[in-house]
Amino acid sequence: MKHKIKYFFLILVLSVSTFDIIAQRFPAPEFEGDYKIPQTQISKVQPVFFEYLDIAVFLATLSVITWVIIKKRSRKAVFWISVFSLLYFGFYRNGCICPVGSLQNVSMALFHPEYTIPVTAIIFFIAPLGFTLFFGRTFCAGVCPLGAIQDIIALRPVSLKPWIRYVFGLIPFIYLGLAVLYAATGTDFIICRYDPFVEFFRHSGSSLIFGIGGILLVTGIFVARPYCRFFCPYGVLLNLVSRVSRRHLSIANGKCVNCRLCESACPFDAIDKPTGLESKKDNRGLVKKMMIYGLITPVLILVTGWSVSRFHGELAHVNFKVRLAEEMMTIDKNINNATLPDEIKAFQSSGSVVENLYREAASIVYRFYVGSWILGGFIGLVFGLTLARLTIFRYRDEYLTNKGNCYSCVRCVPYCPIK
Ligand code: SF4
Ligand code: SF4
Repeated sequence: MKHKIKYFFLILVLSVSTFDIIAQRFPAPEFEGDYKIPQTQISKVQPVFFEYLDIAVFLATLSVITWVIIKKRSRKAVFWISVFSLLYFGFYRNGCICPVGSLQNVSMALFHPEYTIPVTAIIFFIAPLGFTLFFGRTFCAGVCPLGAIQDIIALRPVSLKPWIRYVFGLIPFIYLGLAVLYAATGTDFIICRYDPFVEFFRHSGSSLIFGIGGILLVTGIFVARPYCRFFCPYGVLLNLVSRVSRRHLSIANGKCVNCRLCESACPFDAIDKPTGLESKKDNRGLVKKMMIYGLITPVLILVTGWSVSRFHGELAHVNFKVRLAEEMMTIDKNINNATLPDEIKAFQSSGSVVENLYREAASIVYRFYVGSWILGGFIGLVFGLTLARLTIFRYRDEYLTNKGNCYSCVRCVPYCPIK
């Protein structure tokens, strides 16, 4: 029965998206020449009423799901709340605004005082982190539309080898660093631009991103929540905050009989096994390893910082003003005006002073230079801490939810014989 409902939603999600794309009522006009219609990433301006409604629905859904997870421990209720979130925040509100993308608004506001961050973005950014601090990732369980669309289609999940999880688990940190760098330099909101599911929600956009979303959804049938686990930059923050959550969902509350039923029920490999007494003995070797990684980490930070900074020019090239300045510098002064690229014609007709453009572009490139050092250093730090974390030993004599990786989906709870 459960699978029938899931299959029904899988077909519903795919059909809503594909039919709409196939049946474009107003096909794009064909222009002569090389002109390509630019893809806009800015959503329509919404009336203020909708903003308040979004905030109210968002906070209410977050509160209800948290209560359902912590108090009722009901998987069925979490599932139906996921369906609601997918329909409301995903298909009805077009996946915007979403907490995952809001971290870019926050980064932009921190580095650009002239940028007025919408109140909705602040609330959407802070509220899930606040709830996570106390109750774990209840937001991921069924409020995030990106998580919900993947969770519903996790029909045949397989367990992944730990090394795969560790290696691919580094991607979200890199993605987070890049997203902050591009937002802080005022270049682009890459999380929104490359959001793989937003095309499904909006029924429009690039076929490349639609294809990536489709691949992720098909992969998600077998590898549960691939975007959440191996890409989501906001998930990095939630993971870190959730580790110190006070009232996280627990399975057997200290009465575990080691039957392993919860372990096989979790599609995300988010349950830590008992460690066994053997591993308790060799503490001296672990201390030695920790010291080595403690020394290696600063070297890693410097090496990766330096390496990434070598590519600051390429990273800055994504910025429109930097590209325009480069084009202006290389343009042949004697070239026929009619054959100039459109962006140069637009710049010339705006009456702006080219020296100002060069100055601004140079300042952006410098910001990328500093930013790429920080990004590289951050990646080195994450590598170093990941290595060190592998050596940290915490004795466990029962099966426990891994507070950082657990999405509080409550799948494991009904399987546990301890009630
Ligand atoms: S990990 Fe990211 S995409 Fe997944 S549910 Fe959490 S916030 Fe949403
Ligand atoms: S509640 Fe956490 S540990 Fe349990 S099945 Fe869901 S993700 Fe896994």
